[in-house]
Amino acid sequence: MSATETLLQKIEALGWRAAVVPHARRAEAIHAIVERHEKGEFDEAFYQEYLAPMFSEPLPETPTPRSVILVAVPDRPVRMQFTLDGSPFTVITAPGYLRAPEPRPSVAIAETLSSFGCSVAPAHAPLKTLGTMSGFSRYGRNNISYVPGLGSFVALAAFISDLDCDDAPAQAQETLTRCGDCHACRDACPTGAIGEDRFLLHAERCITFWNEKSGEIPFPEWIEPQWHNALVGCLICQRACPENRPFLDSYFEGPSFDEATTRLLLAGAKKEDLSDDVRPALEEWRLADFLDYLSRNLGVLVKKEELRRTRGRCGKGEKT
Ligand code: SF4
Ligand code: SF4
Repeated sequence: MSATETLLQKIEALGWRAAVVPHARRAEAIHAIVERHEKGEFDEAFYQEYLAPMFSEPLPETPTPRSVILVAVPDRPVRMQFTLDGSPFTVITAPGYLRAPEPRPSVAIAETLSSFGCSVAPAHAPLKTLGTMSGFSRYGRNNISYVPGLGSFVALAAFISDLDCDDAPAQAQETLTRCGDCHACRDACPTGAIGEDRFLLHAERCITFWNEKSGEIPFPEWIEPQWHNALVGCLICQRACPENRPFLDSYFEGPSFDEATTRLLLAGAKKEDLSDDVRPALEEWRLADFLDYLSRNLGVLVKKEELRRTRGRCGKGEKT
């Protein structure tokens, strides 16, 4: 069996998906994005913050780069418990932020290819564009990437390798067939980020764009408090999407934090402010990477929870 067949078989056995595409596809994907930027299709702040830095990253040194290996690993929202006034409350983080999958794709791929004498290295790439130009994934109307059989709850990764690859031409970037007569994500999105005027998301209206920003930047006033739904990211349009129905009840169960830790995190604690009991959970779940803006993001969810509790008490009072 060839190296590519062996790799794809191993990935499939892990429940993941993979494709080996020509190395040139990465540059083509970047070029496609630069062209769209030149046409003025992107919000400038979004482009400069998220896309441009990725293109200036140096590529890893691979002896003879011939291909890009695209991998999609199923991911799930992470469900965590915080504690407020003695009672726990649940906070969700959208897929793609916490908890590295095991085995790590880089390890699984390197192990498989090393027996064939091939090398592989992780690479920055515009993964959604690269995936759709390769026929590996499709865009939904919400501009989120969907992988056949896995929906949109996936973590994508790219690796440059010297694995041989047929020089297949780039494909037109297709959207999900289902999007033709479906608007569930647009109807569900509270901010109007999924416009009727164009396919491209109004990224500056997307909650994710704001809750990934540095903690000193407050949320704009036009984001209604009840729209916040995740510690990082936003799940509303993905939950509304029929493509994701098989995966909606599936979570990764994350850590629980007691009242003292919840209060410290709300107050903007740094890692060294937290007890030795708490730090391992932060590391394990990669929450330490989010401490910069955890206080702001948790703060809006706490306010929402307090409001829910107050309403619950008032409702009870009316009935008795
Ligand atoms: S992630 Fe949230 S804010 Fe962004 S488009 Fe989807 S529903 Fe709208
Ligand atoms: S909700 Fe409907 S329109 Fe939106 S991405 Fe899913 S299938 Fe497409």
